Amino acid sequence: MAGLAAAAMAFALSTGSLAQDKGTIGIAMPTKSSARWIADGDNMVKQFQEAGYQTDLQYAEDDIPNQLSQIENMVTKGVDALVIAAIDGTTLSNVLANAAAMDIPVIAYDRLIRDSENVDYYATFDNFQVGVQQAESLVDGLKQRFPDQETWNVELFGGSPDDNNAYFFYNGAMSVLQPLIDEGKIAIPSGQMGMDKVGTLRWDGSVAQSRMDNLLSANYTGDRQVHGVLSPYDGLSIGIISSLKGIGYGSGDMKMPIVTGQDAEVPSVKAILRGDQYSTIFKDTRELAKVTVQMVDALLQGGEPEVNDTETYDNGVKVVPSYLLKPVLVTEDNWQKVLVDSGYYSEDQIK
Ligand code: BGC
Repeated sequence: MAGLAAAAMAFALSTGSLAQDKGTIGIAMPTKSSARWIADGDNMVKQFQEAGYQTDLQYAEDDIPNQLSQIENMVTKGVDALVIAAIDGTTLSNVLANAAAMDIPVIAYDRLIRDSENVDYYATFDNFQVGVQQAESLVDGLKQRFPDQETWNVELFGGSPDDNNAYFFYNGAMSVLQPLIDEGKIAIPSGQMGMDKVGTLRWDGSVAQSRMDNLLSANYTGDRQVHGVLSPYDGLSIGIISSLKGIGYGSGDMKMPIVTGQDAEVPSVKAILRGDQYSTIFKDTRELAKVTVQMVDALLQGGEPEVNDTETYDNGVKVVPSYLLKPVLVTEDNWQKVLVDSGYYSEDQIK
């Protein structure tokens, strides 16, 4: 069989027509409301096609039943593999059991799928490290912008509680911040800590904005000012920044607090250049697509996907073998090198 496939491939190559028929890959992405997921989808379609596959790419606009029925349809149509970035990582067990019954391999893409035996591999970034980098840059920024402050006032935001990543980001960040809180260098005036208090359902920027409004009006009266906000995602940072600016931060004697982010989305890179946002985390979706295509190709062509972590991602039923890419911190100092010189964005897109 393998010999036959190789012969067919050699023939295709010699005739200059690549046989584009290695099968169809169902790709379920969460939403188009964030540019990163559009890039993820586009990069995968391109790279799967280059590798000889067809694709069925679907976005679910952050609607859980919608995503479920998209995946059900893919299974019914008999795709050859599924790549899923789940909206709610806990709601897919039944459809994945159906996929398994049809021998359709499943890759969890960026977000871990929980509570299912039927997740074969996980392609993602080092999510704990994302949180570490966010918190380290928060502390660097605080030292730079508020060097004389004995105690920095900080507020914390978490991602969506139904996204496994949100806990990794938060825990990674707290591994840096908790010691500083314990020693009194950082205060959390609202007292709101822990994912149950700081989580932001569906990663919704307007939810973050109103929570920030409330935090400010309830805890920052008189002379007290906030110096830093841990934000795990650019879309939340936009809401947080507009809340802060709405009551005068960033002008007069109210310095802009240090606000973090993630995904290096264009409006947020612009916000970094304006000095409104301090940092973001770049996750190269071209690389994540590449890892995913390699995993799927290995699974379908009888090889073994490459992994570099077989311990961290327990989905409640099993530890899912994973490939973790390295996230990169972006600030006003290195955006050009990381985002433009790498060809991810053109300079015109940012400036
Ligand atoms: C991703 C982040 C993204 C967030 C919101 C997470 O699962 O890992 O890159 O910022 O979802 O879309």
